[in-house]
Parts: sequence; structure tokens; C-alpha cells
Amino acid sequence: PIFQAYRGRFAPSPTGPLHFGSLVAAVGSYLEARSRHGEWLVRIENLDPSREIPGASKEILSTLEILGMEWDGEVVYQSRRNEAYQAALILLKNKNLIYPCVCSRKEIADSSITGIDGPIYPRTCHRGLPDTERLQALRVRTDNNPIEIKDVLRGLVRQRLESDIGDFVLRRADGIFAYQLAVVVDDAEQGVTHVVRGEDLLNSTPRQVYLQQLLGYPTPVYMHLPVVVNTLGEKLSKQTHAAPIVTADPVSQLIMAIRFLGRKPPAELAEGDVASFWKWATKNWKPEMIP
Ligand code: GLU
Repeated sequence: PIFQAYRGRFAPSPTGPLHFGSLVAAVGSYLEARSRHGEWLVRIENLDPSREIPGASKEILSTLEILGMEWDGEVVYQSRRNEAYQAALILLKNKNLIYPCVCSRKEIADSSITGIDGPIYPRTCHRGLPDTERLQALRVRTDNNPIEIKDVLRGLVRQRLESDIGDFVLRRADGIFAYQLAVVVDDAEQGVTHVVRGEDLLNSTPRQVYLQQLLGYPTPVYMHLPVVVNTLGEKLSKQTHAAPIVTADPVSQLIMAIRFLGRKPPAELAEGDVASFWKWATKNWKPEMIP
């Protein structure tokens, strides 16, 4: 049989140990990949050293191992990929698509209207940089051509970046590359064909597709999973103090994750090991059951 080439990935940020929300993204992306005989890569998204918790990357990887989730190839660390991000920036610069910006968050908040994902940058610095010693961020120039993506679960998503989002930052004033740029460069260079991740990133996807178009990269297929929220309705994250997953009983964690994704495994599975869980889960995976 000929299988369509599939390469997925899981891209955790090491801001803390794996919690149930990130487990769901891991399990969803893993099952999509494995049920289609595809590859599954792991990338540690540690662009910002000030947000990285020492030891968290190791802990995440060892938790994945305990859960029986095997990745293909070497783990990629974004902290080691600045040259690739810089090369992409230069490409955009040569096309006159980026410009420096010295505005502070507060200045922008005070002088802008709010878009889909925060304030729309009023292009103050695009009209000319003030005479200042301030550090410069780099922004990409957006336009109003509609960007459309067809998410496997969420359907059509359409944004006009200039009026919905505004010119967005690719490199911060402190020199740190932005997630939006890094994720696009990495997904392309790693040959990722399918992105499965939390729905909180759905709004970012048109920005990523725009950068793919500017950089001449292919656009992967996107599937955005429902996000796990706590009893207060907040997305599970380090900021909302999500509890790390309990690795003493990996099978029960996996069962909770796959139930969240709409599958009810037979009761015997709870008595088994991670290998039998994955065997059942891969065979019985039905993305159309995801709520
Ligand atoms: N590192 C991001 C996160 O942990 C995920 C990025 C992605 O999957 O594109 O939220």
C-alpha cells in the first residue's frame, strides 16, 4: 500500500513540566501521526531563556518516554537555531518586508485599536524611526489580502492580517526571535506536513501561513484540538498553575487524554501497560469523534 507521507510534531515550551493540556496535544498529534504510519517529531520551544525552567525539557522528554511515546529523529531545540531564524529575517529584509520599531507596549496600547489578538500596531515606526537610542524590535509588514486556512476540525478560518492583527513582531527588542517566525522556519525545515496542536493557536495560524507564503515554504495541514480548561474556565498552563501529570500511573493519564479527545477505551485497558494502550489507541483512533 502507498501511504501519504505524514510528518507531525509536538512542540512543547519548557516553561514547566507536562500538564494535562500539553498531554492532550501530545496524544492527539501522536495518534494522528501513528495511525497514518507517519513520523512524529519533538521540538523544544525554548526561544526565551527567561521563561525556561531549568530541567523542564529533560522532564518533558522523560515523561514522554514513560508514557511510551517514541519520537523520530533527534529532538530539536529552538535555542540552538538562531542562525536559521536570522537567515529567514534577512530574506524578508531583502524583500523590504520588515522594519524596525522602538514603540513600547504601553505606547502601542495607548494609541491603537484592538484586533483579534491584541492591539493593532498603528505603524508609528513605519512612517520613520524617531531619533532614539532605544532597542529595536523588527516587525513584518502585513497586507489585507485574505488568508484562508481550512482547519481539519474547525473548518474555514479567514483573516485579513492588516486589519485583524496588524504588523507583528518577528524579533523582539531584546533580540529574541518571536514564536511566529521560529515555528514557521522550524516546521518548514523539519519537513512537517501536519500540525496538530491546541486551539489557542488557531488565531496565530494565518500569521504563520502568511510567513510561509513570504518565505516560499509549503503550508502544512492544520488540526486544532479543543483546549483543556480548569474549573475557572482558564486554559491549563503554567500561568494558571496546572498540575504536572502523574507519571506513577501513565496509563490512566493516557486514558484521560484520549477520553478528552472523544474515545472511550474498554475498561480492561486500565489494567494494561502503555504498549497495549497505544496498540488499542492507534487502531481505534477517530479524529472525527473529537468534541
Ligand atoms: N510551543 C507552543 C506551546 O507550547 C506550541 C507551538 C505549536 O505547536 O505550534 O504552546
